[in-house]
Amino acid sequence: MHEVSIAMSILSVVEEAFRETPGAKRVSKIKLQIGMLSMVDPEALRFALRTVSRGTPAEGAEIEIEMVKPVFRCNRCGHTWEVSDEDIERISSDPEASTLIHIYPDVVARYLRCPRCGSSDIEIVRGKGVIVHSVDIET
Ligand SMILES: [Zn+2]
Repeated sequence: MHEVSIAMSILSVVEEAFRETPGAKRVSKIKLQIGMLSMVDPEALRFALRTVSRGTPAEGAEIEIEMVKPVFRCNRCGHTWEVSDEDIERISSDPEASTLIHIYPDVVARYLRCPRCGSSDIEIVRGKGVIVHSVDIET
């Protein structure tokens, strides 16, 4: 369900890019990056985006999705690291954690610790939620 609201915010970004492009005819390609810990189902998002873009300049656009590994930074010691496959697996298989993170991407920091100093004061610097990486517009 949440994928629909994500799709609608993607569409508003795409439509804005379209409006700002002189002579824009249609959107040919939308490239998205989904953080692996965002718990967003790429196929559900693709379907939702196709549905909400009907009747807009983005209808029929190619949708390219890249899954990105989140990167975290520790606010205590400054250590920066890429989340491990084990952490992704652990969090994805926890139904409570994955549901919360799906709706509030920032919550993911609660389920991880800095591997260097053990602090829980960490933040996501890359790979949070879903971002529109690029929009190709035919003119
Ligand atoms: Zn640390």
